[in-house]
Amino acid sequence: MTLATTTAPTACAQDAGANQPLHFHPRGPAPSAMAAEGQGWSVQAVQDLLDLPFMELLWRAQAAHRAHWPEGDVELATLLSVKTGGCPENCGYCPQSAAFDTGVKGQKLMEAEEVVRAAQAAKDAGATRFCMGAAWRSPKDRDIEKMSELISAVKGLGLQTCATLGMLQPHQAQALKQAGLTSLAVDLSAANAAFTGAVDTAILYAEQARKAGISINVVQEPNDGYWTHLWQKKSWCAAYWFGTPTPDDILTQAYSAGASWNDSAWNNDKFNKILAEARSELDAGKRAGMYRELQLPVRDEGGVVIPLFANDVFATSAKVRHGRLADNYECDGRMFFDRWWFG
Ligand code: SF4
Repeated sequence: MTLATTTAPTACAQDAGANQPLHFHPRGPAPSAMAAEGQGWSVQAVQDLLDLPFMELLWRAQAAHRAHWPEGDVELATLLSVKTGGCPENCGYCPQSAAFDTGVKGQKLMEAEEVVRAAQAAKDAGATRFCMGAAWRSPKDRDIEKMSELISAVKGLGLQTCATLGMLQPHQAQALKQAGLTSLAVDLSAANAAFTGAVDTAILYAEQARKAGISINVVQEPNDGYWTHLWQKKSWCAAYWFGTPTPDDILTQAYSAGASWNDSAWNNDKFNKILAEARSELDAGKRAGMYRELQLPVRDEGGVVIPLFANDVFATSAKVRHGRLADNYECDGRMFFDRWWFG
């Protein structure tokens, strides 16, 4: 985070003792374009926020907190691991994964009486919300049936209920909602290693989803090892795709079954069949129609959300010379470091 404003310094003085230059910055622009409560965030509003001095940000955070929690109240919640260890997923850092010997033994889902006892104790201690976590990668329908019983029982005590259960099918999420689940924690992992501004993008996306009643918990992940240990391993994570010159290029690399860059492990029989046929279709018009048909299930049923299309901005200089530019990817087919020279 930078503490400086983006405008130029108006005065500069030397500290005689340490020879340390002191820069005095003019006051930053009034953040008039800030998003008002309940309004969306414009690019300008986000930029105004980023440009604010740090102490101003602190003051605003405190003011927002006091506006919503004037008495300094906090919500008391209790978290119980209702199914610990033995998880078939390997998130790389989690001691509950069966991939590591961490001393955490795999346990069965707790019995309802035991969970209700813990929930009652939490309520007696002042909690108003009770969260249940289970070390599952993708629970089976029979697991969801048992979880639904737990949720109904805890709800019956007058507590709000939330849960973190791994990857769910839509019908499983619906069953949990019918059982009385107040909120479901959906984690979205992001690190700026995915693309510049990925964490801010995830936060803004979660903010939009919140208005639609969808609760997304943004998890800021480490940049180091993001593509190796987190991408395609976390249930939902930020990624970046460059523009590709043909639809075949993106559909084959990102959506064909078994492709190594298939972000969402998309595997759809009909899609796979049409893609194979399209690749051998010689009639260009027919092929274009097939590529259109392929994109419909990806849009309607796929596991990828595309929150934005970023502009590519290029500048040219007569001082940089090159031969005929490749037209497959940006920057001369990404070979500019090999093919360009100063002249
Ligand atoms: S899915 Fe959850 S419990 Fe399983 S390894 Fe990942 S973080 Fe741990």
